[in-house]
Amino acid sequence: ITVTDLVDTSYKRIAEVDGQVGAFLTLNEDKARTYAKELDEAVGTRDQFGLLFGMPIGIKDNIVTKNLRTTCASKILDNFDPIYDATVVTRLKEAETVTIGKLNMDEFAMGSSTENSSYKATKNPWNLETVPGGSSGGSAAAVAAGEVPFSLGSDTGGSIRQPAAFCGVVGLKPTYGRVSRFGLVAFASSLDQIGPLTRNVEDNAYLLQSISGHDEMDSTSANVEVPDFLSSLTGDVKGLKIAVPKEYLGEGVSEEVKQSVLDALKVLEGMGATWEEVSLPHSKYALATYYLLSSSEASANLSRFDGVRYGHRTDNAKNLIDLYKQTRSEGFGDEVKRRIMLGTFALSSGYYDAYYIKAQKVRTLIKQDFEQVFEKFDVIIGPTTPTPAFRIGENTKDPLTMYANDILTIPMNLAGVPAISVPCGLSNGLPLGLQIIGKHFDESTIYRVAHAFE
Ligand code: GLN
Repeated sequence: ITVTDLVDTSYKRIAEVDGQVGAFLTLNEDKARTYAKELDEAVGTRDQFGLLFGMPIGIKDNIVTKNLRTTCASKILDNFDPIYDATVVTRLKEAETVTIGKLNMDEFAMGSSTENSSYKATKNPWNLETVPGGSSGGSAAAVAAGEVPFSLGSDTGGSIRQPAAFCGVVGLKPTYGRVSRFGLVAFASSLDQIGPLTRNVEDNAYLLQSISGHDEMDSTSANVEVPDFLSSLTGDVKGLKIAVPKEYLGEGVSEEVKQSVLDALKVLEGMGATWEEVSLPHSKYALATYYLLSSSEASANLSRFDGVRYGHRTDNAKNLIDLYKQTRSEGFGDEVKRRIMLGTFALSSGYYDAYYIKAQKVRTLIKQDFEQVFEKFDVIIGPTTPTPAFRIGENTKDPLTMYANDILTIPMNLAGVPAISVPCGLSNGLPLGLQIIGKHFDESTIYRVAHAFE
């Protein structure tokens, strides 16, 4: 088969199902077809090919793509055409993937259901009345619906893993610093990571391999060696030590979800791994800590959208201050405004020590919880989400219930450790995700376990 065949298949499938699923915001069809032809012509004329030669890929709309509209699903960036590529996009070009289009998300990656997009809600391909999760809902739904075999998402508090779990695909949040954030529109810079969503673990390892590595353009990118992730897919987990935090199987986690994790542990035991219950005692503070820190960082990061430099500008301004105010009132959605207000409050003098500084201290305690467990264990295993996908509209009126959805994914962002979600069964016909968490920069062990389990 040719690259043109692959690209045809993608666009044909999008034409068939995306009217219902709503995963894509922008298609890149003309350029993708031209590039596919180029790649097809290259076959036979050279003997070196990119790692993902000719593979169709979708990209979350908060990752900038040169001359291809990038909106973050926000009205404030409507018609924003970036003048450069994110580093991950440059690396995908080196791997010779074909960009099919840009994927829907919660506005500025704030949300857990993709209902906060200013353009449309994406639906879960397994059941169109339920959400695909968020904020990378488009990235997970596009892979689950067979529109693209590969996509990129971003994960600040669970936004790759939770939608991967809800849509029955594989999604990995790499170690903080493993993948360059240059060109990822910042939500909370100390937590954000770009990562791969795919149909299986092997594809996931290929995609991470293609985008990983040090980047001078991102000062938080780690200068550590990138291992050969594919060589860790051995199927061997004999002697592996698994920790299972009791906090991740406690209150609020549905019986079916708990059972699916216990079943998965049995499978791994059958392959020679052992597991023990452990405690991550500061887990109960993770949600509050995350919302204070992520909103504080967001309030600073989003100050750049002022109507002068990017995207939307109001038509009705009387003076400069008014221009900022009106542009931002018109351009940002409700959830984004809520976070900016929360963050501005937490950072304001008089409250800074009580909220922001205190949250930073608790973050350290959460990180130490993980370090202690990883002194004795190779991986930590638990569910990705407390329940399967919920119904569209079910949680939109109550932000706190919506926030609680991330309770099992947020601690890893605070600690900076890598974690994957792999499908591990169904509940009422909807997929469940198993979360495998690793030591800093040890995605290899995560992949080894995920691949053996899959
Ligand atoms: N749902 C979480 C939030 O709304 C996480 C989002 C994310 O990981 N980008 O902040």
